[in-house]
Amino acid sequence: MKRRRPLTRIRMIIRVAVLSLCALLVLLVSIYIFKPELLAWAGTEPVESEKLKEPEGEGKEAAVEDGLLSPWRYPDPDESEELDAPPEEVPDESPERPLEAVDGSNLLALVTKQTTLGRYAPTDLEPIPAEIVHPDRRGSKYYLRCEPLGQLKKMFAAAAEDGVQLTVTSAYRSYDTQVSTFNDWVSLDGEEEAQRYSARPGQSEHQLGTTLDFNIDVTAGAEQHAWLADNAHLYGFAMSYPEGAEEVTGYRYEPWHYRYIGVEAAKGWKALGLPLCLYLQQKR
Ligand SMILES: [Zn+2]
Repeated sequence: MKRRRPLTRIRMIIRVAVLSLCALLVLLVSIYIFKPELLAWAGTEPVESEKLKEPEGEGKEAAVEDGLLSPWRYPDPDESEELDAPPEEVPDESPERPLEAVDGSNLLALVTKQTTLGRYAPTDLEPIPAEIVHPDRRGSKYYLRCEPLGQLKKMFAAAAEDGVQLTVTSAYRSYDTQVSTFNDWVSLDGEEEAQRYSARPGQSEHQLGTTLDFNIDVTAGAEQHAWLADNAHLYGFAMSYPEGAEEVTGYRYEPWHYRYIGVEAAKGWKALGLPLCLYLQQKR
């Protein structure tokens, strides 16, 4: 029998070593890729942060820096919104005490971090005309309930007569859309920070179908802001999250965010000068 030369033997050892390393690498990559499935198979759920979606769109990080949130200047989940968006994973509500269920069809429903609308969806939603939606957002359809939409059209006409150009940057968001919205912000900014400006599903006034955002943010839209502050209540709209009231409302200042509560109630709210949630609590 012919003896193998030492060099050939070394080559074989090297080949076996390289093949083993490749096999190990494939195994490690597979474990990494299929980690959630393996954890689920082993009976252990992946931690919450691993289940969150990656943030979408450019410029989001810059937009949320230092609280200069500009709701229409970055792509948001609204853009893919459909009224029957598929359900997604719901984040933990982790309340200290059980949430109080409220009826979303009530224009004066108390919507706070202590209450929940559940999966409420309005039945009289109508599309907002594209010409009053912000040009950057016209690729999406926005909806409001019938009564607030009628009042909104009157308000836009009055603002235009005063030379103020209002546009809508967001309106109705379903429970499922709010799941995506909240998850996106959590993955971008962390849960603690995100909950200062984004509501958990079931706790967003946008789910009421009576609430909308205007083309205002902390650094722009001063003219629109001033006009709405003086006139919005005459059409039944109230600004929900005033400056310096985060302790009470649970949310940072949102000068763009208005909710329709009816003309009489809005006039009462304006006269008392209370944060909206305190006013609605009083009216119960
Ligand atoms: Zn809003």
